[in-house]
Amino acid sequence: CGIIGYIGPRKASAIIVDGLKRLEYRGYDSAGIATCYEGKIFLRKGAGKIDELLRRLKFTELPGNIGIGHTRWATHGVPNDINAHPHLDCTGKIAVVHNGIIENFQEIKEELVKKGHVFKSDTDTEVIAHLIEENLRIVKNFEDAFRMTLLRLRGSYALVVLFADDPERLYVARKDSPLIIGIGKGESFIASDIPAFLAYTRKAVFLDDGEYGIVSKDGFSIRDIITDSIKVKHVHEIKWT
Ligand code: GLU
Repeated sequence: CGIIGYIGPRKASAIIVDGLKRLEYRGYDSAGIATCYEGKIFLRKGAGKIDELLRRLKFTELPGNIGIGHTRWATHGVPNDINAHPHLDCTGKIAVVHNGIIENFQEIKEELVKKGHVFKSDTDTEVIAHLIEENLRIVKNFEDAFRMTLLRLRGSYALVVLFADDPERLYVARKDSPLIIGIGKGESFIASDIPAFLAYTRKAVFLDDGEYGIVSKDGFSIRDIITDSIKVKHVHEIKWT
């Protein structure tokens, strides 16, 4: 339902909690945050409202300058702590937040289970983390494994992926679900909705359907999922107050 990601000099978990609160108006049943610090993913998530989760899970204890957060509106799997996003792969090094529905998740899940993957949740989203993990055995770089995964997914998605072994970048993609990059000074934001980062920057890049990209604290690059050609994107100045 709602996505917010951050990379920059500040404490990511604090910015993400703030972003999640600004996304609350969309409605949600659960929420969670993953950050990366010293090569490890730190994850806290659960069913309930942000303020209650803040007390129960102490989100702002999560360390690091890069992270992703999500408010979930369940489509596959009941609203509970385990089905809340972010979702991880088996190694615990790949964290995924997702808005939308992966229509062919059952088929992908069955294939991955045969290959030995163990799933924790009932969500469609979790297959994305495991499929990236699987594709990383075939191609060795994160960008190719990410794109290879996107080519296999049917349905709709706004996606942000955090790799513990590539802790300076966030991987993003959009198909039939909005995703916007916020460009700050030496920091970047990703969100499903502009209000999530408007307090920090008014410069925004709108992903179009069928695009994926890599976002660092100093910039971004966007490509076409199908052709892999580079897309030239305009940086918009958001005027609303
Ligand atoms: N289909 C995903 C789920 O049920 C994402 C739902 C959403 O957009 O919040 O977990």
